[in-house]
Amino acid sequence: MTLKIWNLLLLSLCLGIVSACSPSPANNQNPARGIPPEIAGLHFDMNRIEPFFRPMGFPEYGDWLETNKEPGQTFDEYIASSPTLPTDERRTIHVQPIGKFDEQQTRVIKTTSDYLQAFFGLPVKTLTVKAAPAKLKEPDQRMIDYPQHRQVRSGYFLEKVLPPLLSKDAAALIAFTDEDLYPDTSMFFVFGQASLEKRVGVWSLYRLDDQADFDTFLRRTMKIAIHETGHMFSMRHCTKYECVMSGTNHLGETDRRPVDACPECMAKIAWMNKEKPLDRYNRLVAFAKKYQMKEEMRDFEKKQKAVE
Ligand SMILES: [Zn+2]
Ligand SMILES: [Zn+2]
Repeated sequence: MTLKIWNLLLLSLCLGIVSACSPSPANNQNPARGIPPEIAGLHFDMNRIEPFFRPMGFPEYGDWLETNKEPGQTFDEYIASSPTLPTDERRTIHVQPIGKFDEQQTRVIKTTSDYLQAFFGLPVKTLTVKAAPAKLKEPDQRMIDYPQHRQVRSGYFLEKVLPPLLSKDAAALIAFTDEDLYPDTSMFFVFGQASLEKRVGVWSLYRLDDQADFDTFLRRTMKIAIHETGHMFSMRHCTKYECVMSGTNHLGETDRRPVDACPECMAKIAWMNKEKPLDRYNRLVAFAKKYQMKEEMRDFEKKQKAVE
């Protein structure tokens, strides 16, 4: 598959969300003046974890920033944008598996759900697996070749399946499916799509394990789930660092990104949750220990120590 096609396909991964987030004007306020202590504290912790992140480099051919000129979004700009935040009534991230999953995919969904919980500090509820309908009317499904299989229109999930399943306490409802997705006839396939307005999203596992071992498949799923859920809380693409919230155009770029949020995005999450960054890193260290993700554990421990 050519890089150009990958660009088109992956661009569509974020289109639904990015277009739903209208750009907010840059906030040029001087953080040193009249700043609330909790925000000053977050700026202090941002500086302390900064050494553990790589500044965004010059984009390589086909990378997201080569084809999408974006301004990024700092922590201060995020606060000024009146973002969609979890509320006391809507705090839970609901995960809805739809389809038939093998043992490996089931493990990936379980681990990713736990990571969402540790990462955002919000309760995550995994709902009982639902079967996908055996047959759908066109255009909700279409057949494609190489290999011959069914694709389901992502809008079918976003418009018909998920909204009735959205409960009152849900900050967001994320569906994982084993079905291959397509958004419309202009595209060959799409990895996922979300509707900020409806607070629902659907992500396909169909292509994420393509020529990948379990660890790569898991990390790709974790990164995509975090990235898209971040969009649901109005977090825009990050251009300052290599960050889980940076836009990606192809799986190679996804694989290069860290699973964690950069200092600017970390502060957004801590502010959203009214918590200290240390609480978040404590959770992330416990998560990495539980799943024996040694590299991530060492990384989270360094950041945990830095903000103690
Ligand atoms: Zn995105
Ligand atoms: Zn970031």
